[in-house]
Amino acid sequence: MAALDGRQPLLSFVRRNGRIPTESRGIPWFPDGNIFLFTEDRAFKFYMGLLRARNTSPWFEQRLQNLSDDSVDLVDNYPAILLDDASRDLGNFLMALSHGCGKLFTLESEQDFIALSGILRLATKYHVRHMREDVLRAFRLEFPSNLVDWDRIADSALFRWTCDPIPVINLARELSAVFLIPPAMAFLTNDASAGEVFGVPVHEGTRRRIPLHPFGTLEDIQGFALMKEYNHVSIVRMITFVRNVGRDCKQPPEPEPRPRGMSPVGTQRGIRPSICSKGFHRTAGILTLMLVTEDPIGYRDFCIEVWLEVMEKKLAVCRRCRRNFETGYGEHRRIWWAGIARILGVLPVEHPSQVGARWDDDPDGNH
Ligand SMILES: [Zn+2]
Repeated sequence: MAALDGRQPLLSFVRRNGRIPTESRGIPWFPDGNIFLFTEDRAFKFYMGLLRARNTSPWFEQRLQNLSDDSVDLVDNYPAILLDDASRDLGNFLMALSHGCGKLFTLESEQDFIALSGILRLATKYHVRHMREDVLRAFRLEFPSNLVDWDRIADSALFRWTCDPIPVINLARELSAVFLIPPAMAFLTNDASAGEVFGVPVHEGTRRRIPLHPFGTLEDIQGFALMKEYNHVSIVRMITFVRNVGRDCKQPPEPEPRPRGMSPVGTQRGIRPSICSKGFHRTAGILTLMLVTEDPIGYRDFCIEVWLEVMEKKLAVCRRCRRNFETGYGEHRRIWWAGIARILGVLPVEHPSQVGARWDDDPDGNH
């Protein structure tokens, strides 16, 4: 009995030997299926009806139209088609197709990421629009386009598995889902130093990312560097803002020192800063010191420190100054968030219908 030569594509082996080795059967394998889909090393037995169902995949619909052609391989009297996809991706895609595309996909483990990225790749390639949207919905939950949801995800990240942003950025480039890039880059530039990301021990104690996922495009290497600078500038702006809160506040005023003796007639004492202004000034000093004496810090982490210094430590300031701080703090963070897509040169697409439109313009996902 001939053994399958690992260097030979599986279909060539089957043509010569007239059988599919058991170990080359992929999952799914439906015994009552009526079509074989081959990759180089796996065969999947599947249902033709599921592939050509209306509105499923225009690509397969067209491909299966001429199956009576003499050139089509027959295995056990069923047509066999050779595809150039990775076996793992095709298996996951067919599983998703047979289990119904309305299934709720979730991104809760490394395995989920591998499966979903394969499904997304093939849903895009074969134009299975609703499956692509279902998968993207799962990615959006982890990499949301609005700051409130992004904060919520970041807050919960300590207690659960989180997706490595670099493979997500690479996938988003590959499959024209660029709206995932700003939130993913915001996570990455907060959580990882340049030394970690590029695997260069800049100083003693630089952590190494294991496994190290390199960026897939020059655009994203550039985007990472620009984001780091953008975050730094945004931090400096936040400190400047904090330093200036309470500048015009006189309530409560700084108690003035009791004058010694009588002041000469007409003497005007200089306007002293309020307690509020002094407090914010001092806080800005603490934050500046933190910025220059500690390890590089991400924008989000720095903002948390700002909030701690003012709100959690209950900086003694008047109600009006506290309110001004809260408003300005939120506004600075919103401005930061809104600028990310511009810095990275990508347009965040919020609405699923726009995703579809973008995708229709370029069905092969080549941007
Ligand atoms: Zn005040």
